[in-house]
Amino acid sequence: MAACTHRVGRVKVHLVSDGVFWTDGGTNFGVVPKTLWEKVIQPDELNRIPMQLRCLLIESDAGLILVDTGYGDKLAPRRQEALNLHGMFRLGGELATLGYKPEDVAIVLNTHLHGDHAGGNTKLAEDGSIAPAFPNATYMAQRLELADATYPNERTRNAYFPENFLPLGNLCRGNQDTVLHVLNGDTHITDTVRTLTTPGHTRAHQAVIVESAGESAIFLADAVPWAITFEKLAWVAAFDVEPLVSMETKRSLRDWAWRKEALLFFQHDPLMRKRFSRGEGGIERR
Ligand SMILES: [Zn+2]
Repeated sequence: MAACTHRVGRVKVHLVSDGVFWTDGGTNFGVVPKTLWEKVIQPDELNRIPMQLRCLLIESDAGLILVDTGYGDKLAPRRQEALNLHGMFRLGGELATLGYKPEDVAIVLNTHLHGDHAGGNTKLAEDGSIAPAFPNATYMAQRLELADATYPNERTRNAYFPENFLPLGNLCRGNQDTVLHVLNGDTHITDTVRTLTTPGHTRAHQAVIVESAGESAIFLADAVPWAITFEKLAWVAAFDVEPLVSMETKRSLRDWAWRKEALLFFQHDPLMRKRFSRGEGGIERR
């Protein structure tokens, strides 16, 4: 996917991608029977569906903000093959098509710390150590998400990989605080960029909102990974740790998006973006 640029008021944002991976279709739609979800997306012979690894790059007053980092380059070959992870450029290449280098990113903002969202936070250095993939960036994640990621349970531990976030909490740059900055709930990152906690997928999952000159956009991450799951509140992924909370989160996000006529960014949906407006709904294919 080539990077795709939008304007939200006076702020320029770019959708960039770390590629596409394939995962079991049923797990994405929870209790919804296959006979219904396969009308939305056709699975392959292994019952897998394609999932985008979109990230949002925001040209903010505080410099470049990158929301999520995809799977990154540290996956074992067997795991990468199992995911059928591929992409023409992956994240670094997509940034390059926009004229940016990893050094240019000022803030990396994680919606949550699952492997498909925080995998590109770090990279393997030449000496085999783990290093920040964005060497000048401050990384931001929610306190409760960090706690859940650091101490997972039997159900959640396959989704979290400590090498994506733990080293950042132990790394200081000069005399400054650690590279990892802990957020406590909803936070204004700049005048035009803020986070909104959207629990359900994980207990402290957060979406990212851009607001400028009367326009709004929201990067929904795994609160609403597919456009269809925004329309159908009961379509909640089996991965979600609190599915009924996910449903209520979607209900309030829908009310907000309706009021604001916001531009919606669906992180995993390979087909859709949408402007949520009164009237026809405005689904666009891309
Ligand atoms: Zn995800």
